[in-house]
Amino acid sequence: MADELLGLTRRLRRRVEQSPRCCWGLRPREGVAIASPGAADAQSRLEAVAKAVRSCRRCPLGCARMRAVPGAGSPEAGVLFVGEWPGFEDDRCGEPIVGPAGELLDRILAAIGLSRRAVFIADIVKCRPMGDPDQPEAHGNDRLPTSEEMSACRPYLVEQIRILAPRCIVALGEAAARTLLGSEAPIGRLRGLWGEYRDGDLAVQVMPTYHPAALLRDPELKKLVWQDMKALRDELEGGPRA
Ligand code: SF4
Repeated sequence: MADELLGLTRRLRRRVEQSPRCCWGLRPREGVAIASPGAADAQSRLEAVAKAVRSCRRCPLGCARMRAVPGAGSPEAGVLFVGEWPGFEDDRCGEPIVGPAGELLDRILAAIGLSRRAVFIADIVKCRPMGDPDQPEAHGNDRLPTSEEMSACRPYLVEQIRILAPRCIVALGEAAARTLLGSEAPIGRLRGLWGEYRDGDLAVQVMPTYHPAALLRDPELKKLVWQDMKALRDELEGGPRA
């Protein structure tokens, strides 16, 4: 396993360094990173979305949150990881998928030669849904967002996908997979199978898999996620479909 990962990391780094446009959003190991005009434009457009999210009151979640969580990562990311909605830790720091689930996500990314700074991470809902909005400091005060809240927030993710136009999207969890694929199927049926996100002329491949938080609850799911990440790696390397 360690040898396989080491070899994979070397192959990925070589591929990135030889690429005229870094499709993973990674930069060469040495030298000065120069942002392309396209990246600067994407950065400013992503910042405009983030600014709009931070002042948004389009749904009731905007009045209860401690901090909005617009998303974070590279404007040149070739891979977009889409999560569900902020939890307690995310709400406190304004970053997507942090805490124990975030640490696990970092390890998953590292296993395929990626990092948070190389990809973009965004949730389908940008503010934390709370059972009791008057208790934002309370643990265990989370709830599912309503369909109205999800619909209200969807345009932000749609715009982020348009700006990034990523090569692949990884949908983390059932809600993210259903939102992107327009499916009602459970994550157990969706995961591991490439789907497609469409928005006008934009078509992006989507790999649904389990959310890191689900892996913390059920470690048996880790081997399935590893299969899905290997399929992502093969796709990015131009290899055979899993
Ligand atoms: S969840 Fe989305 S739509 Fe609702 S207030 Fe937050 S940013 Fe606005």
